[in-house]
Amino acid sequence: MIADLIISGGKVWYREEFIECVIVIDNGKIIQLCKEPLAPRSDLKLDVDGLLVLPGLIDIHSHLRDFELSYKEDFYTGTCAAASGGFTTVFDMPNTKPITNSPMRLREKIERIHLNAVVNVGLYSAPPKNVKEFVELVSMGVAGFKVYLSEYGELNTDYCNYNFYEACSNYNVRIHFHAELRDFIDTSTTTYELNVLNHHLIRPVKAEIEAINYVINLKDIYKFRAHICHISSSDSCSLISKVKNSRLNISAEVTPHHLILNNNFTSILGNIVKVNPPLRTEYDRKMLVKLLNNGLVDCIVTDHSPHTLEEKLKDYCEAPSGFPNFEVALPVLLSKCLNGELMFSRVISAMSENPAKLINLKNKGKIEPGFDADLVIVNHKGEYVINPEKFKSKAQYSPFKDMKVRFQVSKTILSGFPIYDEGEILVGKGYGKFIEVSDKNDSFSKTY
Ligand SMILES: [Zn+2]
Repeated sequence: MIADLIISGGKVWYREEFIECVIVIDNGKIIQLCKEPLAPRSDLKLDVDGLLVLPGLIDIHSHLRDFELSYKEDFYTGTCAAASGGFTTVFDMPNTKPITNSPMRLREKIERIHLNAVVNVGLYSAPPKNVKEFVELVSMGVAGFKVYLSEYGELNTDYCNYNFYEACSNYNVRIHFHAELRDFIDTSTTTYELNVLNHHLIRPVKAEIEAINYVINLKDIYKFRAHICHISSSDSCSLISKVKNSRLNISAEVTPHHLILNNNFTSILGNIVKVNPPLRTEYDRKMLVKLLNNGLVDCIVTDHSPHTLEEKLKDYCEAPSGFPNFEVALPVLLSKCLNGELMFSRVISAMSENPAKLINLKNKGKIEPGFDADLVIVNHKGEYVINPEKFKSKAQYSPFKDMKVRFQVSKTILSGFPIYDEGEILVGKGYGKFIEVSDKNDSFSKTY
């Protein structure tokens, strides 16, 4: 046979360690891992000269904006940023303008993905208003529903004219919770001066803990699948550990910024690091690191949240929360593995294998025969400086600006085809596909 592509000379991440082998790719799939002399002939050969070859990254929490917010980001720029960061599949949140909470809104996004995306994109919906729309959204392949417990209205369940939680249980769809309970957030506080230094007090740990407890109680009643987004505090770590060891399994995710930064950065970076949930204390950060290293966090997510720099530089109350993260996540996290703080194997699996399992993406997240040839090739031979001016994202700033890192994404390969190479996007708009998620009868999904 003649294969489509052979990648040689790499240190390939295979079953939790690096091995030296060639990857034989045909028809978008990995068909063989072997020593070079045993490889079949191929149309194309890529010698990666000792670089690391990891599974293509999967991000289950990002904000690609578009539509009325396309001045912040759109499906093209967002997925170009994702490809530059080594991501081959990303999932977009529904708090867009307009909000994604109906089949019509989902269809509009799917259309734009097919026209503009360069990596694969899956979609979440906010709770739809009626059961008919709920059922249709599930059949269209939403990855899950997102509920913002911090919000009132359409992003929460306030307008549902049916029991949303019962419906999620009946259809075995996962709910991803923004876990800050609105009753405990006081943005009009008179106790604290309204500035970014107090952001973590205005949105206190208690809001997160009460939200997680609220989810635990709801899950106990309705038995739906629940996922806690971006946990930020040591108290949440204790709660999640306890839940992980109980019959009420709940999955959880953590972000690069909560793993690496603490609230001291607020005095240096101001509203650039304004984010929800807020950065917490150094102790909280260390507990998140421990939770990840102990394998109790399912996924690392970027929560890529682009806004314009002008918006971020407004007063505390007006400046939006979040910042772009696709293009920094892997280099900063891997660099933190070198000093022994984070465990390499946990970081990789939390960004590839675990999210693939959680969302039930068959044949993704691992470098093994039969799996999709989604790969990221990482240079670990130099020292690099994070430079947001080079971002493909429309948002060209980062709390990690000027940080020295020891890893850089060299190439990203999606379905056996190089889509990114040393700063260049190699494919046109529309190479990425909409990822339709359908896992209602899968045995794995029952463990979550
Ligand atoms: Zn988010």
